[in-house]
Amino acid sequence: MNTVQLWQATLGELEILLSKPNFSTWFRETFVVSHENNKVVIGVPNAFTKTYLEKKYHVLIVRALRNVAPETIKDVLYKVELKDLRKQADPPFASEPDVFSQALGQSFAKQSAPRPEHVTPAGLNPRYTFHNFIVGKYCELAHAACQAVCDTPGETYNPLFIYGGVGLGKTHLLQAVGHEILTRSPEKRVLFVTCEKFSNDYIQAVRSGRAKELKDTYRSVDVLIIDDVQFLSSKEGTQEEFFHTFNALHQTNRQLIISSDRPPKAIPAIEGRLLSRLEWGMIADITSPDLETRIAILETKCKEKGVRVSGDIINYIATMVHNNIRELEGALNRILAYSQLNNEELGFEKIKQILSSLTMSYAKKSITPKQIVSLVAEFYNLAIGDLIGESRKRELAIPRQISMYLMREEIKCSFPTIGQEIGGRDHTTAIHAYNKIQRDVDESPKVKQDIDLIRQRMYNI
Ligand code: ADP
Ligand code: MG
Repeated sequence: MNTVQLWQATLGELEILLSKPNFSTWFRETFVVSHENNKVVIGVPNAFTKTYLEKKYHVLIVRALRNVAPETIKDVLYKVELKDLRKQADPPFASEPDVFSQALGQSFAKQSAPRPEHVTPAGLNPRYTFHNFIVGKYCELAHAACQAVCDTPGETYNPLFIYGGVGLGKTHLLQAVGHEILTRSPEKRVLFVTCEKFSNDYIQAVRSGRAKELKDTYRSVDVLIIDDVQFLSSKEGTQEEFFHTFNALHQTNRQLIISSDRPPKAIPAIEGRLLSRLEWGMIADITSPDLETRIAILETKCKEKGVRVSGDIINYIATMVHNNIRELEGALNRILAYSQLNNEELGFEKIKQILSSLTMSYAKKSITPKQIVSLVAEFYNLAIGDLIGESRKRELAIPRQISMYLMREEIKCSFPTIGQEIGGRDHTTAIHAYNKIQRDVDESPKVKQDIDLIRQRMYNI
């Protein structure tokens, strides 16, 4: 195994354990400088990344390296060094984070698959089309709504708002709509942007005095697709710009397609007038895929990669990995990586072993009370100090009670510990909060939905 293969397989492991933004921020420019005498030196682009990896991810990195190459890893060091692209026969990272997992997958494919593609000027990645999107019950409505939009853009559902947890196919679906509309009407101007890009474009344009150009660009399209609008939360300037863009497009029957990890109402700190617009058209959710769909997805991915995997094994993977499709792909990639790196046929026992360490590592992501507090605070866009503070305002009290509920439900904290974690409160307050939210979960769809969404985030950190 050479250093490139070693690092690719290690990245494959790490990708599964980290959130996508974290993974791509911290590992994008990394590579293995050398692997000699049981010592691995990892090249990182700057001192900041070096410190961060040493402090935050060292244990994970060492574990992942040892998983890939047992017995040949003792010390792991980091060194600031820029990657020499000429030496990288097969760079694992493509130009855009979304295609990364694919690049990994491809490099392990038995047949030579096409190289990681370039994103088109419309912001579309050729990999995400309807052709390779598997439809199951879990996403039927969202898929049908997307098809309807392709049939009559700007007319039937405008805006179309799709929401669901991470790794469930929102980006794939939105991109597929962009491709489909362009295939049917190549003259149409389609633009796909992430909400973050929209926001960055806006900030840059204002700074450089080119706000008008930006307006002209965004307002001249026929179809505007904005991914992950939950990031609009608290960004007042961007919200304002988005609001006007929305109006300009909507008034002239141009299509808006929007995704988010939660329904419009659950996006914190969003202006009322924008919220009401997000709710104007069709709202469709995507939930977790059922077993049948997971099997179908794995079969498709194997076909795409040109590898043959027996039905029993596919079934087994689909049963073991059920959170989301990104993890499903990650598990498959990992198995293929093992088989290729070790030149081994995919035996059932070996796969069981690989998957059990993988599912253990999912389970091992043990969550602390502090993480729950910080996730809930982030979800509701609150400061941690306020969440655990004294104020009894409703917008703080409910998230506070939800934090206590989740500590009990998810990590079985004792009531005195819960009280302690939430600003040193008495255990009776924790019991009261737990009972109250338990009732709310049955009675209030909003509370239930918020808790489901927070849970999803919890297991994807
Ligand atoms: P999200 O945007 O919801 O976080 P993505 O669209 O990035 O999720 O999907 C994660 C990965 O799973 C992508 O590689 C995508 O191609 C794949 N995927 C998701 N849903 C499906 C599906 N229904 N059929 C085939 N592949 C899927
Ligand atoms: Mg996405």
